[in-house]
Amino acid sequence: MRTIPFGKPMLDEKEKKAVINVLNGTTLTHGPLVKEFEKMFALFTGAEYAVAVSSCTAGLHLYYFHVGIGPGDEVIVPVETHVATAHAVELCGGKPVFVDSENITGNIDLDQVEKKITEKTKAISVVHYLGMPVDMKKVMEIASKYGLPVIEDCALAIGTKLNGKHAGLWGDVGCFSFYPVKHITTAEGGMIITRSKKIADSISKLRAFGIDRNIVSERKIPGIYDVQELGFNYRMNEISAAIGIEQMKKVEDFLEIRKRNYMTLHNELRNIEEIELFKTTYDDYKSSYYCMAVILKEPLCRKRFEIMEVLAQKGIGVSIYYPKPVPLMSYYKNKYGYKENDFPVAFRLSDFSIALPVAPHLDQEDMIYIAATLKEIIIKLR
Ligand SMILES: *Cc1c(COP(=O)(O)O)cnc(C)c1O
Repeated sequence: MRTIPFGKPMLDEKEKKAVINVLNGTTLTHGPLVKEFEKMFALFTGAEYAVAVSSCTAGLHLYYFHVGIGPGDEVIVPVETHVATAHAVELCGGKPVFVDSENITGNIDLDQVEKKITEKTKAISVVHYLGMPVDMKKVMEIASKYGLPVIEDCALAIGTKLNGKHAGLWGDVGCFSFYPVKHITTAEGGMIITRSKKIADSISKLRAFGIDRNIVSERKIPGIYDVQELGFNYRMNEISAAIGIEQMKKVEDFLEIRKRNYMTLHNELRNIEEIELFKTTYDDYKSSYYCMAVILKEPLCRKRFEIMEVLAQKGIGVSIYYPKPVPLMSYYKNKYGYKENDFPVAFRLSDFSIALPVAPHLDQEDMIYIAATLKEIIIKLR
């Protein structure tokens, strides 16, 4: 039987050697590798500035802190996402105002955004759900009409583009994640990209206690420095950056394999009547193909866990993106009193979908096996 894990970090001798080199040296933080990783990331995405941080969540939090989100402020947040997207707002004392998903792509329903904007709204956040770009032209139209900053959660969107422009460069910032199951990894880690020098400078300072590094490097007596503002310790270290540099050399290949795997699986599954697959609504786009979401129709959806169990027995690692719409997570449900039927589209995605793997540790044969196994299960349940 095949064993197909849902995700697997793609690390080889290159990463190991790079880590050993750091450990054999004397610089673990504030070194040249973080700068090099940032430069490579900026080059790959086409960003003017890239600032490495300790996680995507740290990046989101830093940006809201930079903007000055606080008690009484509201931020538009999609429901179908990782809790981090909403937590970053909460951590600043702000209130996430949730917007349901659209059916076709699973992305935030932009027709509902304007209705949720009030005089308390201070920012709009979007998530490129499973790597499929949000219609950013429409987002930017809404944002400019109300004069709001836009933050793109790009945790699953390395390689995601719309009209040739990389995700994260439409809004004010884009925050990426290098958690192990994402497209590339640094164990833990994140990156903020932006076109604004002002934002890049501010965030660089805030990620390191608010200390002005220029002043530190200019200081005459070592050990003496001043801090003029509050900040975090959200830096990336040299070990993570060393891994990140090696991962960036492979990212194009990773994305190629993901696309090929996705296309094969899509082709095999698209004619099964009992399931639905996401569609695209744009001509000129690139997805990062994070996974293949299969949405089970009625009445098959009632048997989701049964299907997932059989897939697991056949060695296929599956997942759910995301297991619950964020407002239905106990923290948010208890705090704001959301109910199950408040977000019907996202609820359906969370309750009736199965995420199949397409990551680069898998090949075409794996895809054929996954498709054949799923078909077999569905036919048996007919
Ligand atoms: C994984 C993920 C995050 C969190 O990333 P970390 O680097 O673990 O903080 C945030 N948003 C989305 C959409 C994610 O998928």
